[in-house]
Amino acid sequence: RPPTQVRNFSIIAHVDHGKSTLADRILERLGAMGERDKRDQTLDTLELERERGITIKSTPVRLSYTRDNGEVYTFNLIDTPGHVDFNYEVSRSLAACEGVLLLVDASQGVEAQTIVNAYLAIDSNLEIVPVINKIDLPAADPEGAAQELEDVIGIPAKDAVFASGKSGLGIPEILEAIVERIPPPPGDPEAPLKALIFDSFYDAYQGVILFVRVLEGTLKPKQPIMLFNSGKTFDVDRVGTFTPGLVVGESLPAGSVGWIAAGIRDIHDAQVGDTITQKDRPTPEPFPGFKPAQPVVFSGLYPTSTEDYRKLRDALEKLKLNDAAFNFEPETSEALGFGFRCGFLGLLHAEIIQERLEREYDLDLIATAPAVVYRVTLTNGDVFETQNPAEFPTRDRITSVEEPYIKLSIMLPEDYVGPVMQLLQERRGSMITMNYVGKRVELLYEVPFAEILYDFHDRLKSISRGYASMDYEQIGYREGDLRKVDIQVNNEVVDALAVIVHEDKAYSLGRKIVDKMAEVIPRQMFPVPVQATIGGKIIARATVKAYRKDVLAKCYGGDISRKKKLLEKQKKGRARMKQIGTVEVPQEAFLAVLSTE
Ligand code: GDP
Ligand code: MG
Repeated sequence: RPPTQVRNFSIIAHVDHGKSTLADRILERLGAMGERDKRDQTLDTLELERERGITIKSTPVRLSYTRDNGEVYTFNLIDTPGHVDFNYEVSRSLAACEGVLLLVDASQGVEAQTIVNAYLAIDSNLEIVPVINKIDLPAADPEGAAQELEDVIGIPAKDAVFASGKSGLGIPEILEAIVERIPPPPGDPEAPLKALIFDSFYDAYQGVILFVRVLEGTLKPKQPIMLFNSGKTFDVDRVGTFTPGLVVGESLPAGSVGWIAAGIRDIHDAQVGDTITQKDRPTPEPFPGFKPAQPVVFSGLYPTSTEDYRKLRDALEKLKLNDAAFNFEPETSEALGFGFRCGFLGLLHAEIIQERLEREYDLDLIATAPAVVYRVTLTNGDVFETQNPAEFPTRDRITSVEEPYIKLSIMLPEDYVGPVMQLLQERRGSMITMNYVGKRVELLYEVPFAEILYDFHDRLKSISRGYASMDYEQIGYREGDLRKVDIQVNNEVVDALAVIVHEDKAYSLGRKIVDKMAEVIPRQMFPVPVQATIGGKIIARATVKAYRKDVLAKCYGGDISRKKKLLEKQKKGRARMKQIGTVEVPQEAFLAVLSTE
């Protein structure tokens, strides 16, 4: 089909405003879903996405739309994630589009992520079709939500389409708006090839599969191609489109969104953001690559059994291909042995990566507590950055320490402003501004990133009864009174358990960690002391009590099936444990700092 009859678009919104559900309705309407695969959130293909009900990866799908007047259009729809950790995925998807459907839940109105995503689209020069969604809800206020879009972002309220992904209301209007308002992709199918890699994954049979947006020229099988950044050359084996499964096609002309396989075996050769061109007829200029995502949260990942080290490395390499936003490098810990220091975009991202490693690659892992990157100035004048608390120098060698700060934006109903401001105060935040948007308030704060890392979002949600939403961006480093808290188990310092914390909070944090650890470390034949120290000085102490004789006796008596059950239970619990000296330390102990009291 000529590019004039192609529309490439994404659906963007705050999390839970109904992107995946609306995508389902569109797919259904355009006959892309057979009765057989009819299930909810069709584009959430990862097992994890279905379980958690969130979208992690952007998933493209090609659709055919016939207008009432008989004109036929090809739609390439790219579903996107909404959580702040995955903004990176969103901006990559947007590079493959000319327009977006910007969804707003009619009962919630504009939220923090609505604003961020709208600006991502505006910055990429995309046409925005505002959709006020979930108008079937009794609490829906479609006009109010449309007016908020106008007041907050400047999108005219009269442009909004009212819809419900649940009932299907408004879907025909949305399809028409896509054709009428979103421009067709530019590009000349005869020009030298220029295609953007916006995603990729590794297929055991075909090698690396690249998701591409063709900007100029045409991609076809047998074509010799070159990757601009790596300079590597390949011959295209297959090209195709998404249904959302992969279907083989004949060619991908300018304007298309599709995939190619080119026998690429080394995952390093294919980088997301790179430009593909024709080897013997290169495009004069590559697409300006994406800004590489900067991981901001770091944590060590160690296999519970040492033999799995290589398996973990292979898994990390493959996963990185599917998720360009995280990185890793080898790391050694006295307590945990050989593992990797991994960088993530946020805590949710870290959790998802660990879970995907364990499920998709069948690994048992121990993760150390997530930490931010600190900048340390030493007494000898050297400045260095460390993302690993274990590497933190001793107090006498430090002149100053700086920590990363964020600009935090919170949208909330005015009733909750008081308690939320108090929470921000506890987290060492300082206010920049406060804006009223109707009956709602936008709070802008500067806060140390470490302070919102763990349980901030949960606390914010519970304080505001679920009404507050947040977003943030990094704004650089500020000096702080930071200390390293060491943790000793059975009188030995465990390097992998060290944490960096603000002086004012060191004691309470040390207390929390040792109490939690004493609770989760299994009992031994002897009592095991757990201590938190600063510079060798003990600030908190707890004890893992020894087995009592009669408890042991009970285990050895009794019927056989009960004993078997007990053994099985022990075996299972052991999977995520690490032997440290004579003590077995479970995963929960390494994440004691995350526990909520
Ligand atoms: P996403 O995070 O933006 O992809 O949102 P989902 O599509 O996963 O939807 C979030 C929740 O809202 C789910 O429980 C949906 O069933 C519900 N939902 C989505 N669209 C509608 C709608 O139009 N009306 C109602 N009442 N609920 C909806
Ligand atoms: Mg979704």
